[in-house]
Amino acid sequence: MVTHLSEREKETLQALKDRLREVRDLESALAVLGWDQMTYMPPGGAAARGRQMSTLGELAHAKSIDPALGKLLEDLRPVEERLPYDSDEASTIRVARREYERSIQVPPSFIARFYAHRAESYAAWEKARPENDFAAVRPYLEKTLDLSRELARFFPGYEHIADPLIDFSDYGMKASTVQAVFAELRERLVPIVQAITTQPPADGTCLHGSFSREGQSAFYGQVIRDFGYDLNRGRCDVSAHPFTTEFSVGDVRITVRYGENDLSEAMFSAMHEAGHAMYEQGVDPDYEGTPLAGGTSSGVHESQSRLWENVVGRSRGFWSATYPKLQAIFPGQLGDVPLDTFYRAINKVERSLIRTDADEVTYNLHVMLRFDLELALLEGTLAVRDLPEAWRARFEADLGVVPPDDRDGVMQDVHWYDGTIGGGFQGYTLGNILGAQFYDAALGAHPEIPSEIERGRFDLLHGWLRENIYRLGSKYTAPELIERVTGGPLQVEPYIRYLRAKYGELYAL
Ligand code: ZN
Repeated sequence: MVTHLSEREKETLQALKDRLREVRDLESALAVLGWDQMTYMPPGGAAARGRQMSTLGELAHAKSIDPALGKLLEDLRPVEERLPYDSDEASTIRVARREYERSIQVPPSFIARFYAHRAESYAAWEKARPENDFAAVRPYLEKTLDLSRELARFFPGYEHIADPLIDFSDYGMKASTVQAVFAELRERLVPIVQAITTQPPADGTCLHGSFSREGQSAFYGQVIRDFGYDLNRGRCDVSAHPFTTEFSVGDVRITVRYGENDLSEAMFSAMHEAGHAMYEQGVDPDYEGTPLAGGTSSGVHESQSRLWENVVGRSRGFWSATYPKLQAIFPGQLGDVPLDTFYRAINKVERSLIRTDADEVTYNLHVMLRFDLELALLEGTLAVRDLPEAWRARFEADLGVVPPDDRDGVMQDVHWYDGTIGGGFQGYTLGNILGAQFYDAALGAHPEIPSEIERGRFDLLHGWLRENIYRLGSKYTAPELIERVTGGPLQVEPYIRYLRAKYGELYAL
C-alpha cells in the first residue's frame, strides 16, 4: 500500500485545508461575537450584533458549500481510499466530505428562512416564558415543527423523520437506537428512583444562604484548575446560561451562572463546563483549522462534562480531600456542617420540575420524556396545541409531579424555541451513560484513580482522557470511539452499576 502522498496530492490536500481553515476562521469569529453577546455586550449592541452575526454566518455557509471545495474533495477521493482509515489525512478528508455532503443538501434559502424564524421564535419565548403565555409561542412552535420536518426531508432514506436531526448532533445514532437504549435505561432506572424517593429526603439547607461570589469563584476557580482546565488557554466569565465556546485549541472559554443564595449552582456549572472545555483544549493542536478539531458528538461531549461534574465532582472521595478548603472559605456557613451532611446535600434526589436542576438519578427521566414528545410531534401523532397537556400528563406519570404552569412546564427549556424540534435532548442522557462507561474504562487502565482523587490529584484521569478521547477530536465517530476506548458498543450497565453503588450507600436500595 502506498501511504505517502505525491507532490500533486500534497498540494491538493493543502488547498483543501486552506479552504476549510477559512470556514473555521469565519465560524470562530462568529463564536467570538456570540460569546461577547452573552457576556459583556451592552444592550444597545443587540440589533447590530444580530446583523453582524448573520452576515458572518452567511459568509461561512457560502464558503462551506463552495463547489470548488467539492471538487477538491472529489480529487482527493483516491487519497482517502489509499491511506489508512485512521491517518490524519484520510480522516480530515472523510470528515470534511461528510460535512460538505450534509451542507449541500440544504438550500441556502431554507437556511435563511430557518435563521430568521429562529431569531423571532427565541424573542417570543424570552417574552412569553415569564408571562406564562404558551399561546404566544404556539404559532412559532408550529412553524418550527414544519421547518424541522422540512429540514429532515432534505435527507431522504431515513427510517424515522427524527433520524437526520439526531444525526446532526449524534452522528451514527438514529431514533430507533436511542429508543432501545432509553427503554433499557428506563426499565432499570425507575425502580431506583422509586426506592429512593419513598425514603426521607436529604437535608439540603447547608447549600442555601449567603455565599460571597468572590469566595465561590476563588473556590471553583481552583477546583477546575486542579482538574486540568488551562486558564492560559481559557477563561471563565458569568452569563445567564452557562456555556463553553471555543475559538481555537488555544482559546476555549467557559461561563457560569450564580444561583440566588445558592452555593451549588456556580460550582457545579463550572465543573460541568470545564469538562466540556478540557475536551476541546485537549484536541491535537495539529487539527487546528480542520474539521477534526472539536468534540465528536453531543453525547460524547456531554459524557466529558458529566464525568467531571458528577462522577468526580459529586463523589465522596473528591470532597473528602476538598471539603476542608471550602469550609475554610466559608467558615461561618459550613464550619459546623459535617462532610457527610454536605455530601448528602449535593446528592439529594427528588422528583422535581426543572431539568437543569434535576439530580443525577431523575435527570434522565426529564430527557426521555422530551425525546418521546419530540418524536410524537415530528411523527404528527401529537399536535403542538396538545403539547402542554401531554407534557403535564407525562410529567405526572414519570416524575409524579405536575408543573403548576407552562413557564416551568413546556416552556422551561430554550431548545425547541431556539433550534429544531428533534435532536437536541438525547445527547444529555447518552452523555450520562457514556460518562460512566468511559470512567469504567479509565479505572480498568488505572485502578488507582479513585485513591488519587481522594488525595486531590486528577492528573491520572485527565491524562487518560486526553490520550484516549480528547486528543482524537472528531477523527472517530462516537460509535467508533466508544468501541475503541471501551472495547464494545455503548452500554447501560456501567451507568446503572455506578448509580447503584453510589446511591446504595446513601439510601437503602
Ligand atoms: Zn453540557
